[in-house]
Amino acid sequence: MKALVAVKRVVDYNVKVRVKPDHSGIELANVKMAMNPFCEIAVEEAVRLKEKGVVTEIVVVTVGPQAAQEQLRTALALGADRAILVQTDEEMQPLAVARILKAIAEIEQAQIMLLGKQAIDGDNNQTGQMLAALGGWSQGTFASVLKLEDGKALVTREIDGGLQTLELSLPVVVTTDLRLNEPRFASLPNIMKAKKKPLDIKTPVDLGVVVTPTIKTLKVEPPKERQAGIVVKSVEELLQRLKQEAKVI
Ligand code: AMP
Repeated sequence: MKALVAVKRVVDYNVKVRVKPDHSGIELANVKMAMNPFCEIAVEEAVRLKEKGVVTEIVVVTVGPQAAQEQLRTALALGADRAILVQTDEEMQPLAVARILKAIAEIEQAQIMLLGKQAIDGDNNQTGQMLAALGGWSQGTFASVLKLEDGKALVTREIDGGLQTLELSLPVVVTTDLRLNEPRFASLPNIMKAKKKPLDIKTPVDLGVVVTPTIKTLKVEPPKERQAGIVVKSVEELLQRLKQEAKVI
């Protein structure tokens, strides 16, 4: 069974993002980029399925600029077999990404498609759902446990007040939640081996997908600066301030 894993290049989660002076977006010049953390979990899950002998090949794909090859090489070092970069400098929005992933999933005849539940840059949480809808495939979103047995996928999801387990037919789209697994680190020998693994480059045009953005960002604003707190001397003073200044009681 072939697994397709979608990974996105995003600003590293340790970076404190800055809004551009013209409020058109986030400053990306000279900023450390990394694989979206939920995508790392998706890669790890695919590698574990391969180690169990359930998955036979892992194809990892990203849609983005040439520099996104870096994240594909990371995925190859973590255990993916092949990589595909769908190269574009256009700003990518979930629907266009989902169309591209659908085209690749069909070419590859993937039985399981693993995506992050959301990318930490746009926080869209849309691509996996759109991919399942476009392909007419079953979907298990926010997976915290994934099992593949008897030609079915069992996906446990964390929902309000408990856990829900779904039995899904293949092909299936699964999006990963934080508790699905803890990704491994790539070892130095695997990083070296990854340099020799195949990495194909395609364009959206090759796949017949138009990626012109359909959504326009009007303005990006940073959150208000938080004011420093104060230390109160007594419970009486706290109550008085909560009543008169904060007006919350
Ligand atoms: P989003 O819907 O943007 O929050 O992204 C959810 C997931 O879709 C990500 O964790 C990735 O697995 C996948 N994805 C989103 N954008 C891309 C992209 N440009 N290239 C590859 N995968 C992507």
